[in-house]
Amino acid sequence: MGSLSLQNIRKDYGTFRAVDRVSLDFAEGELTALLGPSGCGKTTLLRMIAGLEDPSGGTITLGGRDITRLPAHKRKFGMVFQSFALFPHLSVRDNVAYALTIAGTARSAAHERANSLLDLVQLAGYGDRRIGELSGGQRQRVAIARALAQEPEVFLLDEPMSALDAKLREEMQVELRLLQQRLGITTIVVTHDQREAMTMADRIVVMSQGRVEQMAPPHDVYHKPETDFVAGFIGRANFIDGLAEDGGVRVGDSLLRVTPEARYLPGSPVRVACRPEAVDLQDKTGPDNRMPATVTFVRDLGPVRDIHLESALGKMVVEYALGENRDTFRIGDQVSMTLPPDALRVFPRVQPGGTRDQTEARPDRIEAAE
Ligand code: ATP
Repeated sequence: MGSLSLQNIRKDYGTFRAVDRVSLDFAEGELTALLGPSGCGKTTLLRMIAGLEDPSGGTITLGGRDITRLPAHKRKFGMVFQSFALFPHLSVRDNVAYALTIAGTARSAAHERANSLLDLVQLAGYGDRRIGELSGGQRQRVAIARALAQEPEVFLLDEPMSALDAKLREEMQVELRLLQQRLGITTIVVTHDQREAMTMADRIVVMSQGRVEQMAPPHDVYHKPETDFVAGFIGRANFIDGLAEDGGVRVGDSLLRVTPEARYLPGSPVRVACRPEAVDLQDKTGPDNRMPATVTFVRDLGPVRDIHLESALGKMVVEYALGENRDTFRIGDQVSMTLPPDALRVFPRVQPGGTRDQTEARPDRIEAAE
């Protein structure tokens, strides 16, 4: 089949740009999650890949062939929607066999294939039931089996777990991932749930305001975020604003040492991100970036404790793993806080006026891109 590729894909609704020059390569056999907050353009992008929405610009290729204007029914892509969209008046088996019989496959052959797909999604023996006699998780499996019936080249899922309760959702995430790996089918899943994306994906595409912020494996989007948006959206982060200086970042009277990975012009505004679990309260790391802090709040969350601190850097949240750490913290305690330089990520700080606001300067940008 070859790999699926997007080049400069855009979607404009009037002067509003919902998807903004997205270029992505989806590796064959991989599962990619499109992740981002509500309204960032995930579903619009998926619908353009499916052929259900025409791009305003850009190209979609599959194995090098331009499919940008190819109608959805000619793409051989399987789709599962939020609602599952099953036929309630048909049996489970007929739901799965539906597309095959419409395409002209003999009824007995279509049923045979449906039975083997029901086996695959662990619903053997459910073929004669009506959809109304199934649980949410079972319906989702029927929707997956139906989408796989025509051996799609690409499998597209839009928030496939959103109708399921939290526990079942986690089980189905693992199940779907194992199934996808077994079949080796190129898959794209839209989700706004970062745990879901981290559980299932080979690579995560983090989107914001129609644009791709980062595409990377789950480990990298968490540990090596490329933008402050990604650092704040995936997991939690303390953000500290300052000015770049040789060897670090100036925050008031303090100079924060950072690893010299990214270089910024001295004096330019930057934002430092530090994960709450990376803050050291036991002087276990080197002496750089050590300073006194005052405990302002303590929150017990079971396996971890959140310690809120006030320091020369402003307010910080520290995630403190329990287990061997038996230290207690009380409001008003003075502690020693260290931000290890290698745990800090530095990003350029967007200035007021230079924002990513969609409403500002959008028409210009649309014209400029034509
Ligand atoms: P959610 O997680 O809430 O489903 P999403 O990331 O999937 O969000 P989209 O549904 O792709 O977001 O929508 C992206 C933006 O485009 C939104 O601001 C939405 O209001 C807008 N939009 C989507 N469809 C249309 C349309 N037909 N006409 C005008 N604007 C639209």
